[in-house]
Amino acid sequence: TTSNEPQMFGHPKGLFYLFFAELWERFSFYGMRALLTLYMVQEIFKAIVERDAATAVVYASYGSLVYASTVIGGQISDKILGMRSSIFLGGVLMALGHFVLAIENNIAFFLALALIVVGNGFFKPNISTFVGSLYEDGDVRKDSGFTIFYMGINIGGFVAPLLCGWLAAAYGWHYGFGLAGIGMLTGLIFFWSGIKKDVFGNRGLPPSVEVYEKKVLGIPQKTLIPILAFLSAPLIAYLLSCWQQNYVSFIFKFIGFAVLAYIIYIMVKLDVEARKKLFMAVLITFFMTLFWGFHELSGSVITLFASRNVDLTGIMNASQTNALNSMFIIILAIPISLLWAYLAKKNLNPRTPYKFGLGLVLAGLSFYILSISGASADENGMVPFAYLFIMYFIISIGELFMSPVGLSKITDLSPKNVVAFMMGVWFLSSAYAFQIVGFISEQLAVESTDVNVGGLDTLSIYTDGFLLIAKYALGAGLVVLAFSPLMKK
Ligand code: GLN
Repeated sequence: TTSNEPQMFGHPKGLFYLFFAELWERFSFYGMRALLTLYMVQEIFKAIVERDAATAVVYASYGSLVYASTVIGGQISDKILGMRSSIFLGGVLMALGHFVLAIENNIAFFLALALIVVGNGFFKPNISTFVGSLYEDGDVRKDSGFTIFYMGINIGGFVAPLLCGWLAAAYGWHYGFGLAGIGMLTGLIFFWSGIKKDVFGNRGLPPSVEVYEKKVLGIPQKTLIPILAFLSAPLIAYLLSCWQQNYVSFIFKFIGFAVLAYIIYIMVKLDVEARKKLFMAVLITFFMTLFWGFHELSGSVITLFASRNVDLTGIMNASQTNALNSMFIIILAIPISLLWAYLAKKNLNPRTPYKFGLGLVLAGLSFYILSISGASADENGMVPFAYLFIMYFIISIGELFMSPVGLSKITDLSPKNVVAFMMGVWFLSSAYAFQIVGFISEQLAVESTDVNVGGLDTLSIYTDGFLLIAKYALGAGLVVLAFSPLMKK
């Protein structure tokens, strides 16, 4: 049991190795993300007039695939590889992706995105499930374990945009992307040292050695899967490069039905209690999708808004504004988890559905703040930085009401043998969110012959859009709050 294992600061020692591994993986992920939209607009698609729209499609397709791949990565881990091998495979693929991105070439660009897509599929769901596995059922420390883990995620998400954004501006894009790759390798070293120091007990090993070693087409599965993973990258790269046809968005509609069908199939086989739990898991995943759909605009439309319409002089560059969300998460994560603990003591801790409703309301409020920034614009159409700052403050509170809570709940609500798969389904909320991001970003795309378009030409396009987003988010939040009493049961 966990209580016999080495502990650190009141948590299983393994948590701290996973903390640093994930910190550095997210460093690479968010360092790259901070550059991605501007890199596409200013480099990859600079020659075309509809560069914003092309960027929107590729960004959304990448984001959708990078999170949807976690369903497959989770499934393969549950059935064949186990969490450890999956995390290694994923980390290697991601690091390679970031290094390929550092090559100055448009074909390399799509291949790099594809490698990150496959890599994240193996890494992200499994490191999250690994955290859950450190605690036994009903261990009260699990929520705070995930809060600590979430801090690690956001330390990476805070530092990386600042460093990569600075490197890219000072020395060139490719230095920024290269640093992201080094970050991922660092994460792998931390994970590996955890295994060497034997802090994980027997967790994360393949579920069955026979299956792991079993030969398919004459090759053991443990070797075959990495080979297939690498081979799938060119295919995904091709899909991503067809932004005009937007195949990915088309495919996602089908995947959506397939996943729903599969969940229903699992549900039918379960007993009533487990079925209710799974239903709840699906419901919170759905609301999470809406929230991320607005939140994940940060890397696309909001980064463009920051670069074109926010007065950042003497503060930071547009890529670096991506650090703000994580900065507020780091500041607020502990106060908010203390707030839940305090309320719980008084028996007032809001149930998960209420937290989710409030989270959406806060997302609406944050976009409302951005939408009114236009009133304070100067004669060049630039708005004060304070609006962006406050916007990130509010939406980060919303995130803390939902994301870490959901992450922890999902490991509780999922039947044991499909827990990594359910983690993948949880991340599907992010995958589908990127379809929302793509849709909104396309609506707010600006066509121009001038790469440096901005100022008065773009201000009202953005502020009008933000107002509309505010209304939708607020509406959705109020609906969830209204139905919360029903879901509590
Ligand atoms: N910021 C969190 C992370 O990187 C959540 C991201 C997401 O699920 N969309 O883990």
